[in-house]
Amino acid sequence: MIARVLQTGGGTYRVRAGGREFDCSLRGRIKLDGGSPVTVGDRVEVEELDDGSCRIVGVEPRHSALIRRAVARRADQVMAANVDQVAAVVSAARPDPDLLMLDRLLAVAEFDELGAFVVLNKVDLQEDQNGSDRSDLTAYEDMGYDVLPTSVADHTGIEALRDRLAGRITVLAGASGVGKSSLLNALDPGLDLRVGDVGERSGRGRHTTTSARLIPLDDDTYIADTPGIQNFVPAGLEAATLGHAFREFRPWLESCKFADCKHREEPGCAILAAVEDGDILQRRYESYLALLEAAEAGEEEARTGGSRSRG
Ligand code: GDP
Ligand code: ZN
Repeated sequence: MIARVLQTGGGTYRVRAGGREFDCSLRGRIKLDGGSPVTVGDRVEVEELDDGSCRIVGVEPRHSALIRRAVARRADQVMAANVDQVAAVVSAARPDPDLLMLDRLLAVAEFDELGAFVVLNKVDLQEDQNGSDRSDLTAYEDMGYDVLPTSVADHTGIEALRDRLAGRITVLAGASGVGKSSLLNALDPGLDLRVGDVGERSGRGRHTTTSARLIPLDDDTYIADTPGIQNFVPAGLEAATLGHAFREFRPWLESCKFADCKHREEPGCAILAAVEDGDILQRRYESYLALLEAAEAGEEEARTGGSRSRG
């Protein structure tokens, strides 16, 4: 029987197959090509033993992975396997859209070559905004990202979101308080996720861990809950790779004078010129610089032994 791994921990693998969820052990040391251990999102072959218990006896190759990149001495870690897309959630108001976080999440999706779209939640609160509309995300549509307006309060866009998720594994990510749990409850009231305006750490029932898990909407549709994804640091990525994670930078990247251009203050930088000409948004460029700094800080930590990176 083929099953999907929902959660792992303590040598136990929670899986789902045929609408049923159950715990399995793992036979021997099953690993994928490249040595990666079985993790959340993997499709596994499960065998039932005579005593009624189940164990995993095989794992299918992955088509994608959400990776927490190595910082210091830690190895790259697959947070979730077979992820199809990242849904980056921002709220139109309360809290105001955190566009730096949005850019970070979209970049994470680009690093791992996952699809990505934006969910603009709480559009019912949009008219609270006066003056310049901070929740105007048309620039992101111009870059090629779909922006899906939703409201849990008046059910706007919930069916469109459901369609967008169907048959896929989606990482639902965004700042605390933007409405991720509320959206999931709107999609499936049976989930009964805790909604609150305070920290997410206070626990969701039994599983207060920081490890990833899949939340099934049906046998083919899963939400990957990956705590900490909003703080991912693109450590170990070269500036060249980082530039590619900003979609609208791509047409210019080949034109920089230096092949290893970091687009900071190098002469002949095509990105800087595009920012100056208004072809690249100043804001997006600033997000790029912030991520570049985070990447360099991560690399620095790796060089110095990473004594501060525990936990
Ligand atoms: P999470 O931290 O991203 O999971 O956010 P929650 O789902 O816990 O929601 C945070 C707060 O925003 C709660 O008080 C929700 O009731 C509220 N909220 C969520 N979605 C909406 C929405 O579409 N409109 C309005 N007005 N409030 C919302
Ligand atoms: Zn450049």
